[in-house]
Amino acid sequence: MEKLLEGKTGIIFGVANKRSLAWACAQSLAGAGMRLAFTYAGERLEKSVRELSADLPGSIVVPCDVTKPEEIDAAFARTATEFGGLDCVVHAIAYAKREELEGDFYHTSKEGYMVAHEVSAYSLTAITRRALPLMEGRDGSIITLTYIGSERVVPNYNIMGIAKAALEASVRYLAHDLGPRGIRVNAISAGPIRTLSASGVSGFAAILDYIQSKAPLRRNITAEEVGDTCLFLAGPHSRGITGSTLYVDAGYHIMGV
Ligand code: NAP
Repeated sequence: MEKLLEGKTGIIFGVANKRSLAWACAQSLAGAGMRLAFTYAGERLEKSVRELSADLPGSIVVPCDVTKPEEIDAAFARTATEFGGLDCVVHAIAYAKREELEGDFYHTSKEGYMVAHEVSAYSLTAITRRALPLMEGRDGSIITLTYIGSERVVPNYNIMGIAKAALEASVRYLAHDLGPRGIRVNAISAGPIRTLSASGVSGFAAILDYIQSKAPLRRNITAEEVGDTCLFLAGPHSRGITGSTLYVDAGYHIMGV
């Protein structure tokens, strides 16, 4: 039987290691038959991304630090050569200086503010602009990852919360721009999961304990649950959804106290 995403192609930004939410998304998409391009930011991560992707037939690996416009251009040029077109973009990258992820928010430096926004929010728009020519006429889907710290105060999340708010607003504006071309843009607001980035947020272990005791499902979520929601958003079953933020957080976002 043909798989749901057989013949489709996607590009995934943000695999650092096997715990990355981008990797969970990749596994769900590849499991449904999608052929994938993986980007890595800097030589330090190349080996890890190549080793992981080696198990996914037909995948390619390209360098792309999103703070370097020429690397974004080159990543899409290579993808165009290899794949011809693109049906899906997964944006699962974020960065803030470690010292900005603890203590009082009002200490945020201008440079810390700028770099968090450049990598975690603006990059979605920069990537989308390059992806567009490859996505024309294919009813494609662009998916990013966000966190509830954009809407509510999560102590220590600080500048990342502000950058995630900008990211979610970008999703809505991009969805408006691209809807007439049949391209959908959505965000997954994931509950906390232990990854490399998450370990940079001061007090992260306490957040996991808190969610487990308060979320309606009384547990934390898994990376696989994020991956499967990505599969839903990438495929035809979500064809009527765009500009939305979907919560994969064991229901935590409905809680008042
Ligand atoms: P992760 O494995 O550390 O992934 C973050 C990725 O962003 C890494 O591959 C990182 O590469 C990349 N990145 C940072 N700066 C970059 C740059 N300049 N250019 C290109 N890539 C860059 O952590 P993750 O938790 O899976 O994060 C993925 C996404 O999920 C992020 O947007 C995060 O905010 C979001 N999210 C995570 C959680 C959670 O609890 N884990 C919850 C909700 C949302 P480097 O290692 O080289 O920096």
